[in-house]
Amino acid sequence: MDQIRIDNLCVFAHHGVFDFETRQGQNFYVNAVLYTDLHKAGTSDNLQDSTNYGEVCEFINEFMTTNTYQLIETAAEQMAKAILLQFPLVEGITLEIKKPSAPINLPFESVSVRIERSWHDGYLSFGSNMGEREKYIREGLKKLEEHDSCKLLECSKLLWTKPYGGVEQDDFLNGACRIKTLLTPQELLSLLHEIEQEAGRERKIHWGPRTLDLDILFYDDRILESQDLTIPHPDMGNRLFVLEPMNEIAPFKHHPVTGLTIRQMLEKLKHRQDRKLAGDK
Ligand code: ATP
Ligand code: CA
Ligand code: CA
Repeated sequence: MDQIRIDNLCVFAHHGVFDFETRQGQNFYVNAVLYTDLHKAGTSDNLQDSTNYGEVCEFINEFMTTNTYQLIETAAEQMAKAILLQFPLVEGITLEIKKPSAPINLPFESVSVRIERSWHDGYLSFGSNMGEREKYIREGLKKLEEHDSCKLLECSKLLWTKPYGGVEQDDFLNGACRIKTLLTPQELLSLLHEIEQEAGRERKIHWGPRTLDLDILFYDDRILESQDLTIPHPDMGNRLFVLEPMNEIAPFKHHPVTGLTIRQMLEKLKHRQDRKLAGDK
């Protein structure tokens, strides 16, 4: 991806573990690489189509001088997030903070931390089969949208479906959405659990009735398997109530393991179900 680079921006600030550091202050040097598509600006010659590096420098200076952290790790983490939230065309950032006057009684040039952070692309499925289903879903999506590290980009229509998994229960309202997030997969899962809790979700029976269920289908093209999180969602290929709404918002999204598009997965599932129906007759 194209880059805008800021090299060794000098900022006088007050970060440090020791009292004298927060009292007296010292020089820090900031390196930033902003990952952003520059083709449009390169063609139009219009600053509106790019990110103003002067504004980014001012922003870094302001951020570094108005906050005080013990650790440059924290300064970098918080500032990377603030920059990604402030400048909409910046998709990712490499941020380095150097501290050449760090209190070390040995000859050295500088110590520094360097981090890489970016927006991630996520697809979620949601469902409800208790009470005011649409209200639970709309409120859940609103909470997601209001979280500062998530943006709701697109949402499918809501779809009435029959329950799945063999438990006798009421019909579901289902759908899928696309988000952009700064959260890690684990943080995103925790947020979804919080939102489910706020909707009064109780986990009694597996695949049983629920006010709100929020699942992560995809997180970039990440393949992840841990005790409490599997991405891509392992059962999506067997679920019309996931593939149909996904086919509305992302028919050409590829499954990172099988390489199939959502549309192909949907066709395959429908074909399987038709054959099963024919066999049952
Ligand atoms: P299913 O995941 O088959 O749709 P469910 O949604 O009914 O079942 P829950 O009771 O909501 O199951 O979740 C059980 C656990 O599944 C969660 O606590 C979570 O840790 C885990 N989990 C694993 N992978 C995912 C994922 N991709 N999205 C959401 N939860 C997941
Ligand atoms: Ca689920
Ligand atoms: Ca779930």
